[in-house]
Amino acid sequence: MQIIHHGAVNGVTGSCHQLDINPQSSILIDCGLFQGAETAGRNAVDQLKIEFDLSHITALIVTHCHIDHVGRVPYLLAAGFNGPIYATTATAALLPLVIKDALKVGVTRNQRLISLYLKRLQQIIKPIDYQKWFNLEVNNSDCGYQHAKARFNVAGHILGSAYVEIELSDASLTHNCTHNYTRNNTHKSTHQNTGIHSDNSHDCDADKKKDSHMVVFSGDLGATNTPLLPSPKSPLRADTLVIESTYGDKNHHNREHRAESLRQVIERAVNDNGVVLIPAFSIGRTQELLYELEQIIFSQQQNPMWQSIDIIVDSPMAANFTEQYIDYKHLWDTEAKAVLAEQRHPLDFSQLYTIDSHQDHLAVINYLASRQKPTVVIAASGMCTGGRIVNYLQRFLSEPTADVLFVGYQATGTIGRDIQEYGPRGGYVYIEGDKIDIKAGIHTISGYSAHADQQDLIDFVEGIKHKPKHIRIVHGDTEAKQTLADKYRQLLPNTEIEIGTS
Ligand SMILES: [Zn+2]
Ligand SMILES: [Zn+2]
Repeated sequence: MQIIHHGAVNGVTGSCHQLDINPQSSILIDCGLFQGAETAGRNAVDQLKIEFDLSHITALIVTHCHIDHVGRVPYLLAAGFNGPIYATTATAALLPLVIKDALKVGVTRNQRLISLYLKRLQQIIKPIDYQKWFNLEVNNSDCGYQHAKARFNVAGHILGSAYVEIELSDASLTHNCTHNYTRNNTHKSTHQNTGIHSDNSHDCDADKKKDSHMVVFSGDLGATNTPLLPSPKSPLRADTLVIESTYGDKNHHNREHRAESLRQVIERAVNDNGVVLIPAFSIGRTQELLYELEQIIFSQQQNPMWQSIDIIVDSPMAANFTEQYIDYKHLWDTEAKAVLAEQRHPLDFSQLYTIDSHQDHLAVINYLASRQKPTVVIAASGMCTGGRIVNYLQRFLSEPTADVLFVGYQATGTIGRDIQEYGPRGGYVYIEGDKIDIKAGIHTISGYSAHADQQDLIDFVEGIKHKPKHIRIVHGDTEAKQTLADKYRQLLPNTEIEIGTS
Protein backbone atom coordinates (compact mmCIF):
# COMPACT_ATOMS: atom_id res chain seq x y z
CA MET A 1 0.00 0.00 0.00
CA GLN A 2 1.26 3.45 -0.81
CA ILE A 3 -0.23 6.89 -1.16
CA ILE A 4 0.90 9.43 -3.67
CA HIS A 5 -0.34 12.97 -4.10
CA HIS A 6 -1.28 14.76 -7.30
CA GLY A 7 -2.18 17.99 -5.54
CA ALA A 8 -2.79 19.74 -2.19
CA VAL A 9 0.81 19.23 -1.11
CA ASN A 10 2.33 22.62 -1.89
CA GLY A 11 -0.72 24.48 -0.66
CA VAL A 12 -4.40 23.88 -0.10
CA THR A 13 -5.76 23.49 -3.64
CA GLY A 14 -5.77 20.77 -6.29
CA SER A 15 -6.59 17.94 -3.86
CA CYS A 16 -6.01 14.59 -5.55
CA HIS A 17 -4.58 11.61 -3.70
CA GLN A 18 -3.89 8.17 -5.09
CA LEU A 19 -4.10 5.10 -2.90
CA ASP A 20 -2.30 2.13 -4.43
CA ILE A 21 -4.04 -0.99 -3.16
CA ASN A 22 -1.92 -3.42 -5.16
CA PRO A 23 0.21 -3.09 -8.32
CA GLN A 24 -2.91 -3.50 -10.48
CA SER A 25 -5.36 -1.29 -8.59
CA SER A 26 -5.43 2.23 -7.27
CA ILE A 27 -8.17 4.61 -6.32
CA LEU A 28 -8.24 8.37 -6.37
CA ILE A 29 -9.52 10.45 -3.53
CA ASP A 30 -10.70 13.81 -4.97
CA CYS A 31 -9.61 15.39 -8.21
CA GLY A 32 -9.60 19.13 -7.68
CA LEU A 33 -8.44 22.24 -9.45
CA PHE A 34 -5.43 24.28 -8.50
CA GLN A 35 -6.46 27.81 -7.66
CA GLY A 36 -5.04 31.24 -6.84
CA ALA A 37 -1.30 31.45 -6.19
CA GLU A 38 -0.85 27.72 -6.82
CA THR A 39 -1.60 28.20 -10.50
CA ALA A 40 1.43 30.51 -10.86
CA GLY A 41 3.99 29.17 -13.29
CA ARG A 42 1.53 26.78 -14.93
CA ASN A 43 -0.44 27.73 -17.97
CA ALA A 44 -4.19 27.23 -18.05
CA VAL A 45 -3.97 23.94 -19.92
CA ASP A 46 -1.17 22.52 -17.79
CA GLN A 47 -2.99 22.88 -14.52
CA LEU A 48 -5.97 21.00 -15.87
CA LYS A 49 -3.97 18.15 -17.31
CA ILE A 50 -4.27 14.73 -15.77
CA GLU A 51 -0.58 14.04 -15.96
CA PHE A 52 -0.61 10.70 -14.19
CA ASP A 53 -1.25 7.18 -15.46
CA LEU A 54 -4.91 6.20 -15.21
CA SER A 55 -4.61 2.59 -16.33
CA HIS A 56 -4.86 1.08 -12.84
CA ILE A 57 -7.27 3.62 -11.35
CA THR A 58 -10.44 1.68 -10.62
CA ALA A 59 -12.53 4.35 -8.89
CA LEU A 60 -12.70 7.95 -7.70
CA ILE A 61 -13.96 8.85 -4.26
CA VAL A 62 -15.10 12.44 -3.81
CA THR A 63 -15.04 13.88 -0.28
CA HIS A 64 -17.04 17.04 -1.07
CA CYS A 65 -17.91 19.27 -3.98
CA HIS A 66 -15.65 22.29 -3.51
CA ILE A 67 -14.00 23.07 -6.83
CA ASP A 68 -10.48 22.49 -5.46
CA HIS A 69 -11.57 18.91 -4.72
CA VAL A 70 -13.63 18.12 -7.84
CA GLY A 71 -12.68 20.67 -10.51
CA ARG A 72 -10.50 18.28 -12.52
CA VAL A 73 -13.24 15.64 -12.81
CA PRO A 74 -14.21 16.71 -16.37
CA TYR A 75 -10.55 16.38 -17.39
CA LEU A 76 -10.36 13.01 -15.73
CA LEU A 77 -13.28 11.87 -17.88
CA ALA A 78 -11.66 13.42 -20.95
CA ALA A 79 -8.47 11.50 -20.17
CA GLY A 80 -10.39 8.25 -20.35
CA PHE A 81 -11.45 7.57 -16.77
CA ASN A 82 -14.61 5.56 -16.86
CA GLY A 83 -14.77 4.10 -13.39
CA PRO A 84 -17.36 4.79 -10.77
CA ILE A 85 -17.31 8.05 -8.83
CA TYR A 86 -18.39 7.48 -5.25
CA ALA A 87 -19.81 10.37 -3.24
CA THR A 88 -22.29 10.86 -0.44
CA THR A 89 -25.86 11.20 -1.61
CA ALA A 90 -25.87 14.97 -0.98
CA THR A 91 -22.52 15.48 -2.72
CA ALA A 92 -23.75 13.42 -5.67
CA ALA A 93 -26.70 15.81 -5.94
CA LEU A 94 -24.52 18.92 -5.73
CA LEU A 95 -21.71 17.72 -7.98
CA PRO A 96 -23.45 18.29 -11.34
CA LEU A 97 -24.25 21.90 -10.32
CA VAL A 98 -20.62 22.55 -9.46
CA ILE A 99 -19.24 20.85 -12.56
CA LYS A 100 -21.74 22.64 -14.79
CA ASP A 101 -20.61 25.97 -13.42
CA ALA A 102 -16.93 25.03 -13.71
CA LEU A 103 -17.41 23.98 -17.34
CA LYS A 104 -19.21 27.23 -18.14
CA VAL A 105 -16.53 29.36 -16.57
CA GLY A 106 -13.45 27.47 -17.64
CA VAL A 107 -14.18 25.31 -20.68
CA THR A 108 -17.19 25.95 -22.85
CA ARG A 109 -20.52 27.73 -23.00
CA ASN A 110 -21.75 25.22 -25.56
CA GLN A 111 -24.93 23.86 -23.96
CA ARG A 112 -24.84 20.63 -25.94
CA LEU A 113 -21.31 19.80 -24.80
CA ILE A 114 -22.14 20.67 -21.21
CA SER A 115 -25.21 18.42 -21.31
CA LEU A 116 -23.14 15.56 -22.73
CA TYR A 117 -20.57 15.89 -19.98
CA LEU A 118 -23.21 16.02 -17.28
CA LYS A 119 -24.99 13.00 -18.71
CA ARG A 120 -21.78 10.99 -18.64
CA LEU A 121 -21.10 12.20 -15.11
CA GLN A 122 -24.58 11.16 -13.98
CA GLN A 123 -24.00 7.67 -15.37
CA ILE A 124 -20.92 7.02 -13.30
CA ILE A 125 -21.72 8.81 -10.02
CA LYS A 126 -22.66 6.34 -7.30
CA PRO A 127 -24.45 8.06 -4.40
CA ILE A 128 -23.78 6.37 -1.07
CA ASP A 129 -25.32 7.27 2.29
CA TYR A 130 -23.12 8.17 5.24
CA GLN A 131 -22.04 5.22 7.39
CA LYS A 132 -22.68 2.59 4.73
CA TRP A 133 -19.78 0.37 3.71
CA PHE A 134 -19.37 -0.14 -0.03
CA ASN A 135 -16.93 -2.35 -1.90
CA LEU A 136 -14.26 -0.87 -4.12
CA GLU A 137 -13.13 -2.53 -7.33
CA VAL A 138 -9.78 -4.27 -6.86
CA ASN A 139 -7.99 -6.09 -9.69
CA ASN A 140 -6.29 -9.38 -8.92
CA SER A 141 -2.63 -9.21 -8.13
CA ASP A 142 -0.14 -11.59 -6.55
CA CYS A 143 0.95 -9.01 -4.02
CA GLY A 144 -0.56 -6.14 -2.13
CA TYR A 145 -4.14 -6.12 -0.87
CA GLN A 146 -6.94 -8.01 -2.59
CA HIS A 147 -10.04 -6.36 -1.14
CA ALA A 148 -11.07 -2.84 -0.27
CA LYS A 149 -14.21 -1.33 1.14
CA ALA A 150 -14.98 2.24 2.10
CA ARG A 151 -17.37 4.29 4.16
CA PHE A 152 -18.27 8.00 4.31
CA ASN A 153 -18.52 9.83 7.62
CA VAL A 154 -19.81 13.31 8.41
CA ALA A 155 -17.09 15.94 8.02
CA GLY A 156 -19.25 18.98 8.85
CA HIS A 157 -17.47 21.18 6.30
CA ILE A 158 -20.20 21.81 3.72
CA LEU A 159 -23.39 19.91 2.84
CA GLY A 160 -22.51 16.33 1.89
CA SER A 161 -18.87 16.62 2.96
CA ALA A 162 -17.25 13.47 4.28
CA TYR A 163 -14.08 11.96 5.50
CA VAL A 164 -13.60 8.48 4.18
CA GLU A 165 -12.44 5.27 5.82
CA ILE A 166 -10.96 2.70 3.44
CA GLU A 167 -10.31 -0.77 4.78
CA LEU A 168 -7.82 -2.84 2.81
CA SER A 169 -7.76 -6.54 3.53
CA ASP A 170 -6.61 -9.99 2.50
CA ALA A 171 -3.02 -9.08 1.87
CA SER A 172 -1.41 -11.59 -0.43
CA LEU A 173 0.49 -14.34 1.41
CA THR A 174 3.43 -14.24 -0.97
CA HIS A 175 3.88 -10.65 -0.13
CA ASN A 176 3.33 -10.43 3.59
CA CYS A 177 4.01 -13.88 5.00
CA THR A 178 7.11 -15.10 3.23
CA HIS A 179 8.50 -16.89 6.29
CA ASN A 180 5.36 -18.89 6.63
CA TYR A 181 5.34 -19.69 2.97
CA THR A 182 8.89 -21.07 3.01
CA ARG A 183 8.51 -23.00 6.25
CA ASN A 184 5.24 -24.71 5.47
CA ASN A 185 5.77 -24.71 1.77
CA THR A 186 2.03 -24.68 1.33
CA HIS A 187 2.25 -23.36 -2.15
CA LYS A 188 -1.48 -23.57 -2.69
CA SER A 189 -2.44 -21.41 0.23
CA THR A 190 -0.21 -18.58 -0.95
CA HIS A 191 -2.56 -17.95 -3.81
CA GLN A 192 -5.75 -18.61 -1.98
CA ASN A 193 -6.18 -15.49 -0.05
CA THR A 194 -9.50 -16.44 1.41
CA GLY A 195 -7.77 -19.45 2.97
CA ILE A 196 -5.78 -17.21 5.27
CA HIS A 197 -8.57 -16.60 7.70
CA SER A 198 -10.01 -20.07 8.00
CA ASP A 199 -6.66 -21.83 8.30
CA ASN A 200 -5.84 -21.53 12.00
CA SER A 201 -3.08 -24.07 11.82
CA HIS A 202 -0.49 -21.88 10.19
CA ASP A 203 1.04 -19.38 12.52
CA CYS A 204 1.40 -16.31 10.39
CA ASP A 205 -0.57 -13.60 12.15
CA ALA A 206 -2.93 -13.18 9.31
CA ASP A 207 -6.15 -12.98 11.20
CA LYS A 208 -8.41 -10.41 9.61
CA LYS A 209 -7.76 -7.62 12.05
CA LYS A 210 -4.00 -7.68 11.78
CA ASP A 211 -4.07 -8.32 8.10
CA SER A 212 -6.32 -5.40 7.27
CA HIS A 213 -5.21 -1.84 7.09
CA MET A 214 -7.48 1.13 7.68
CA VAL A 215 -6.66 4.26 5.73
CA VAL A 216 -8.56 7.44 6.54
CA PHE A 217 -8.64 10.48 4.26
CA SER A 218 -9.94 13.51 6.14
CA GLY A 219 -11.06 15.53 3.11
CA ASP A 220 -11.79 18.97 4.55
CA LEU A 221 -12.93 18.84 8.16
CA GLY A 222 -15.47 21.34 9.43
CA ALA A 223 -15.08 23.55 12.45
CA THR A 224 -16.92 22.82 15.64
CA ASN A 225 -19.55 25.30 16.79
CA THR A 226 -20.74 26.26 13.35
CA PRO A 227 -24.42 26.38 12.49
CA LEU A 228 -26.43 23.95 10.37
CA LEU A 229 -24.13 20.94 10.08
CA PRO A 230 -22.94 18.56 12.79
CA SER A 231 -19.26 18.50 13.77
CA PRO A 232 -17.16 15.54 12.65
CA LYS A 233 -16.62 12.62 15.04
CA SER A 234 -13.30 10.80 14.99
CA PRO A 235 -13.13 7.32 13.48
CA LEU A 236 -12.64 4.33 15.75
CA ARG A 237 -9.52 3.25 13.97
CA ALA A 238 -7.05 4.71 11.49
CA ASP A 239 -3.78 2.92 10.76
CA THR A 240 -2.84 5.53 8.21
CA LEU A 241 -4.38 8.99 8.33
CA VAL A 242 -4.10 11.57 5.56
CA ILE A 243 -5.25 14.82 7.12
CA GLU A 244 -5.81 18.38 5.98
CA SER A 245 -4.02 21.20 7.81
CA THR A 246 -5.53 24.42 6.45
CA TYR A 247 -5.56 25.91 9.97
CA GLY A 248 -2.85 23.71 11.44
CA ASP A 249 -1.23 26.76 13.02
CA LYS A 250 -4.28 28.80 14.01
CA ASN A 251 -7.27 28.72 16.27
CA HIS A 252 -10.47 30.47 15.30
CA HIS A 253 -11.46 33.16 17.74
CA ASN A 254 -14.79 34.76 18.28
CA ARG A 255 -16.71 31.81 16.88
CA GLU A 256 -19.33 31.85 19.63
CA HIS A 257 -19.89 35.58 19.29
CA ARG A 258 -19.93 35.94 15.57
CA ALA A 259 -23.74 36.05 15.20
CA GLU A 260 -23.81 38.80 17.81
CA SER A 261 -21.09 40.70 15.91
CA LEU A 262 -23.09 40.24 12.74
CA ARG A 263 -26.13 41.80 14.40
CA GLN A 264 -24.18 44.75 15.77
CA VAL A 265 -22.33 45.52 12.55
CA ILE A 266 -25.52 45.37 10.47
CA GLU A 267 -27.44 47.55 12.93
CA ARG A 268 -24.76 50.23 12.80
CA ALA A 269 -24.37 49.93 9.06
CA VAL A 270 -28.04 50.39 8.19
CA ASN A 271 -28.48 53.41 10.46
CA ASP A 272 -28.11 55.61 7.41
CA ASN A 273 -30.37 53.33 5.31
CA GLY A 274 -27.55 52.26 3.04
CA VAL A 275 -26.98 48.78 1.69
CA VAL A 276 -24.75 46.21 3.37
CA LEU A 277 -22.83 44.02 0.93
CA ILE A 278 -21.57 40.65 2.07
CA PRO A 279 -19.30 38.81 -0.36
CA ALA A 280 -19.75 35.11 0.32
CA PHE A 281 -19.13 31.74 -1.28
CA SER A 282 -22.23 30.11 -2.74
CA ILE A 283 -21.82 26.81 -0.96
CA GLY A 284 -21.83 26.77 2.79
CA ARG A 285 -21.06 30.34 3.80
CA THR A 286 -24.20 31.82 2.22
CA GLN A 287 -26.40 29.24 3.95
CA GLU A 288 -24.68 29.80 7.31
CA LEU A 289 -25.27 33.54 7.00
CA LEU A 290 -28.94 33.02 6.14
CA TYR A 291 -29.30 30.74 9.13
CA GLU A 292 -27.79 33.36 11.45
CA LEU A 293 -29.78 36.23 9.92
CA GLU A 294 -33.03 34.34 10.45
CA GLN A 295 -32.01 33.76 14.08
CA ILE A 296 -31.41 37.48 14.53
CA ILE A 297 -34.70 38.47 12.86
CA PHE A 298 -36.51 35.95 15.05
CA SER A 299 -34.88 37.21 18.26
CA GLN A 300 -35.42 40.88 17.39
CA GLN A 301 -39.20 40.83 17.12
CA GLN A 302 -39.52 44.15 18.92
CA ASN A 303 -37.02 45.84 16.66
CA PRO A 304 -38.77 47.45 13.64
CA MET A 305 -35.52 47.65 11.67
CA TRP A 306 -34.97 43.89 11.79
CA GLN A 307 -38.61 43.24 10.99
CA SER A 308 -38.41 45.32 7.82
CA ILE A 309 -34.87 44.59 6.60
CA ASP A 310 -34.61 42.86 3.22
CA ILE A 311 -32.09 40.06 2.79
CA ILE A 312 -31.18 39.55 -0.85
CA VAL A 313 -29.22 36.58 -2.16
CA ASP A 314 -28.07 37.64 -5.60
CA SER A 315 -26.59 34.44 -6.94
CA PRO A 316 -28.43 31.74 -8.88
CA MET A 317 -25.71 29.29 -7.84
CA ALA A 318 -26.18 30.08 -4.14
CA ALA A 319 -29.95 29.82 -4.55
CA ASN A 320 -29.53 26.35 -6.07
CA PHE A 321 -27.31 25.25 -3.22
CA THR A 322 -29.71 26.69 -0.66
CA GLU A 323 -32.45 24.52 -2.16
CA GLN A 324 -30.22 21.49 -1.78
CA TYR A 325 -29.47 22.42 1.82
CA ILE A 326 -33.23 22.49 2.42
CA ASP A 327 -33.79 19.19 0.57
CA TYR A 328 -31.17 17.52 2.74
CA LYS A 329 -32.33 18.94 6.05
CA HIS A 330 -32.10 15.48 7.58
CA LEU A 331 -28.33 16.10 7.56
CA TRP A 332 -28.59 19.29 9.67
CA ASP A 333 -27.42 19.35 13.27
CA THR A 334 -29.81 19.04 16.21
CA GLU A 335 -29.93 22.77 16.86
CA ALA A 336 -30.98 23.53 13.29
CA LYS A 337 -33.53 20.72 13.36
CA ALA A 338 -34.98 22.21 16.55
CA VAL A 339 -35.49 25.49 14.69
CA LEU A 340 -37.37 23.59 11.98
CA ALA A 341 -39.50 21.90 14.62
CA GLU A 342 -40.66 25.37 15.70
CA GLN A 343 -42.10 25.77 12.20
CA ARG A 344 -39.42 28.29 11.32
CA HIS A 345 -37.63 28.21 7.96
CA PRO A 346 -34.02 29.22 8.53
CA LEU A 347 -33.08 29.19 4.84
CA ASP A 348 -36.38 30.32 3.39
CA PHE A 349 -37.89 33.09 5.49
CA SER A 350 -40.28 35.82 4.42
CA GLN A 351 -37.74 38.65 4.30
CA LEU A 352 -35.42 36.69 2.03
CA TYR A 353 -35.36 37.38 -1.71
CA THR A 354 -33.31 35.54 -4.28
CA ILE A 355 -32.32 37.04 -7.60
CA ASP A 356 -31.94 34.73 -10.54
CA SER A 357 -31.64 36.35 -13.96
CA HIS A 358 -28.91 38.77 -14.95
CA GLN A 359 -31.55 41.31 -15.91
CA ASP A 360 -33.09 41.21 -12.44
CA HIS A 361 -29.61 41.51 -10.96
CA LEU A 362 -28.97 44.77 -12.84
CA ALA A 363 -32.45 46.03 -11.98
CA VAL A 364 -31.89 45.38 -8.27
CA ILE A 365 -28.66 47.37 -8.26
CA ASN A 366 -30.45 50.38 -9.72
CA TYR A 367 -33.40 49.94 -7.43
CA LEU A 368 -31.22 49.77 -4.31
CA ALA A 369 -29.31 52.86 -5.39
CA SER A 370 -32.51 54.88 -5.49
CA ARG A 371 -34.26 53.84 -2.31
CA GLN A 372 -33.80 54.20 1.40
CA LYS A 373 -34.41 50.97 3.22
CA PRO A 374 -32.17 48.65 5.22
CA THR A 375 -30.96 45.91 2.90
CA VAL A 376 -28.35 43.19 3.13
CA VAL A 377 -27.06 41.74 -0.13
CA ILE A 378 -25.20 38.43 -0.15
CA ALA A 379 -23.41 37.65 -3.41
CA ALA A 380 -20.47 35.66 -4.69
CA SER A 381 -17.59 35.44 -5.07
CA GLY A 382 -16.35 35.36 -1.52
CA MET A 383 -13.12 37.20 -2.31
CA CYS A 384 -14.66 39.57 -4.88
CA THR A 385 -12.58 38.03 -7.66
CA GLY A 386 -15.60 37.74 -9.93
CA GLY A 387 -19.31 37.10 -9.82
CA ARG A 388 -22.16 39.50 -9.18
CA ILE A 389 -20.65 41.07 -6.06
CA VAL A 390 -18.27 42.93 -8.38
CA ASN A 391 -21.12 44.93 -9.96
CA TYR A 392 -22.36 45.90 -6.50
CA LEU A 393 -18.90 47.03 -5.47
CA GLN A 394 -18.52 49.08 -8.63
CA ARG A 395 -21.80 50.79 -7.89
CA PHE A 396 -21.64 51.19 -4.10
CA LEU A 397 -18.01 51.33 -2.91
CA SER A 398 -17.89 55.08 -3.40
CA GLU A 399 -21.12 55.63 -1.42
CA PRO A 400 -20.58 56.74 2.20
CA THR A 401 -23.92 55.17 3.24
CA ALA A 402 -22.96 51.72 1.94
CA ASP A 403 -21.06 49.11 3.91
CA VAL A 404 -19.07 46.03 2.95
CA LEU A 405 -18.88 43.23 5.46
CA PHE A 406 -16.23 40.54 5.09
CA VAL A 407 -16.91 37.23 6.78
CA GLY A 408 -14.29 35.11 5.06
CA TYR A 409 -10.59 34.94 4.42
CA GLN A 410 -9.40 37.38 1.73
CA ALA A 411 -6.31 36.06 -0.02
CA THR A 412 -3.47 38.38 -0.98
CA GLY A 413 -3.91 39.81 -4.45
CA THR A 414 -7.71 39.63 -4.48
CA ILE A 415 -10.00 42.66 -4.79
CA GLY A 416 -11.50 41.65 -1.45
CA ARG A 417 -8.12 41.88 0.25
CA ASP A 418 -7.42 45.31 -1.26
CA ILE A 419 -10.78 46.66 -0.10
CA GLN A 420 -10.29 45.17 3.34
CA GLU A 421 -6.80 46.63 3.62
CA TYR A 422 -7.15 50.06 1.99
CA GLY A 423 -10.84 50.80 2.61
CA PRO A 424 -10.55 51.66 6.31
CA ARG A 425 -7.67 54.07 5.49
CA GLY A 426 -9.72 55.99 2.93
CA GLY A 427 -7.90 54.33 0.04
CA TYR A 428 -9.00 53.16 -3.37
CA VAL A 429 -9.18 49.98 -5.39
CA TYR A 430 -9.01 49.12 -9.07
CA ILE A 431 -11.92 47.07 -10.38
CA GLU A 432 -11.84 46.07 -14.03
CA GLY A 433 -9.42 48.91 -14.74
CA ASP A 434 -11.44 51.62 -12.98
CA LYS A 435 -10.08 53.36 -9.91
CA ILE A 436 -12.77 53.54 -7.23
CA ASP A 437 -12.37 55.59 -4.06
CA ILE A 438 -13.62 53.59 -1.11
CA LYS A 439 -16.12 55.69 0.85
CA ALA A 440 -18.26 52.79 2.08
CA GLY A 441 -17.74 51.48 5.59
CA ILE A 442 -15.55 48.36 5.62
CA HIS A 443 -15.98 45.73 8.33
CA THR A 444 -14.57 42.30 9.01
CA ILE A 445 -16.08 39.72 11.33
CA SER A 446 -13.83 36.84 12.29
CA GLY A 447 -14.92 33.40 13.36
CA TYR A 448 -16.37 32.35 10.03
CA SER A 449 -14.48 29.42 8.67
CA ALA A 450 -15.61 26.19 7.11
CA HIS A 451 -12.40 24.52 8.29
CA ALA A 452 -11.39 22.87 11.51
CA ASP A 453 -8.86 24.94 13.45
CA GLN A 454 -5.71 23.62 15.10
CA GLN A 455 -7.54 22.44 18.22
CA ASP A 456 -10.20 20.70 16.13
CA LEU A 457 -7.46 18.91 14.15
CA ILE A 458 -5.77 17.80 17.38
CA ASP A 459 -9.10 16.67 18.85
CA PHE A 460 -9.88 14.68 15.71
CA VAL A 461 -6.70 12.62 16.12
CA GLU A 462 -6.99 12.42 19.88
CA GLY A 463 -10.48 10.99 19.49
CA ILE A 464 -9.31 8.03 17.37
CA LYS A 465 -9.40 5.02 19.65
CA HIS A 466 -6.91 2.87 17.73
CA LYS A 467 -4.32 5.51 16.99
CA PRO A 468 -2.64 5.90 13.60
CA LYS A 469 0.78 4.41 12.94
CA HIS A 470 1.29 6.89 10.14
CA ILE A 471 -0.03 10.38 9.68
CA ARG A 472 0.47 12.18 6.40
CA ILE A 473 -0.23 15.92 6.54
CA VAL A 474 -1.54 17.62 3.38
CA HIS A 475 -3.72 20.56 2.32
CA GLY A 476 -1.98 23.41 4.12
CA ASP A 477 0.68 26.06 3.78
CA THR A 478 4.18 25.14 4.95
CA GLU A 479 3.89 26.85 8.31
CA ALA A 480 0.51 25.27 9.03
CA LYS A 481 1.73 21.78 8.12
CA GLN A 482 4.89 22.04 10.19
CA THR A 483 3.15 23.44 13.24
CA LEU A 484 0.53 20.70 13.11
CA ALA A 485 3.21 18.03 12.59
CA ASP A 486 4.96 19.23 15.78
CA LYS A 487 1.69 19.08 17.69
CA TYR A 488 1.04 15.53 16.48
CA ARG A 489 4.59 14.45 17.37
CA GLN A 490 4.01 15.61 20.95
CA LEU A 491 0.64 13.89 21.04
CA LEU A 492 1.76 10.58 19.46
CA PRO A 493 5.50 10.00 19.95
CA ASN A 494 5.28 6.49 18.44
CA THR A 495 3.51 7.53 15.30
CA GLU A 496 5.35 8.31 12.11
CA ILE A 497 4.33 11.85 11.15
CA GLU A 498 5.22 13.09 7.70
CA ILE A 499 4.35 16.00 5.50
CA GLY A 500 3.03 14.98 2.09
CA THR A 501 5.11 15.75 -0.98
CA SER A 502 4.35 15.37 -4.65
ZN1 LIG B 1 -13.53 22.30 0.98
ZN1 LIG C 1 -10.10 21.80 0.51
